[in-house]
Amino acid sequence: MKIICIGRNYEDHAKELNHPVPEEPIFFMKPDSAIINNNKPFFLPDFSEEIHHEVEIVLKICRLGKNINEKYAHRYYNEIGIGIDFTARDLQRKSIEQGNPWEISKAFDGAAPLGKFLRKNQLADINSINFQLNINNKTVQKGNTKDLIFSFDKLIAYISRFITLKIGDLIFTGTPSGVGPVKIGDHLTASIEGMILLDFYIK
Ligand code: ZN
Repeated sequence: MKIICIGRNYEDHAKELNHPVPEEPIFFMKPDSAIINNNKPFFLPDFSEEIHHEVEIVLKICRLGKNINEKYAHRYYNEIGIGIDFTARDLQRKSIEQGNPWEISKAFDGAAPLGKFLRKNQLADINSINFQLNINNKTVQKGNTKDLIFSFDKLIAYISRFITLKIGDLIFTGTPSGVGPVKIGDHLTASIEGMILLDFYIK
């Protein structure tokens, strides 16, 4: 399976990093070795001084598809979850300055903690999902999918022009504002509509 992540899909986040709002989706990938399941801890790596949290809604692909029409894109995912797109911001800044790829800052081991998934029909309106990240019981990021620049269906249509989507693939759909560093001992809890689906510690 593969993980496809969308960059700058909430205007408030693009602005906080002084990036322009994109005209087409920006995507990058993480390998399956980035996944952390079952609320296992994240160990801060030694190659970065600045690991940032980015809480994101995650789609799980349930059908094989290529060149998917936006109209039918909703048929290609049946579960929605929440995850963290951990980013080594110091390394990412350097990559961007030097025009290098982002993998070193985004694809490392443990860079994709994943929570439990919900079935789409457990959510009243997937175009208006409230989600948030708390650190040590304080809310640091809060978003609603109504503020997505590119909707879930647009993302699937766009990505599948380039890359065949397969069953089990994951799409991280972008982070709202409030990204920031994590440190040893932090307790992260991520929730959708008040349901805590991801709960882990930084070690
Ligand atoms: Zn992200």
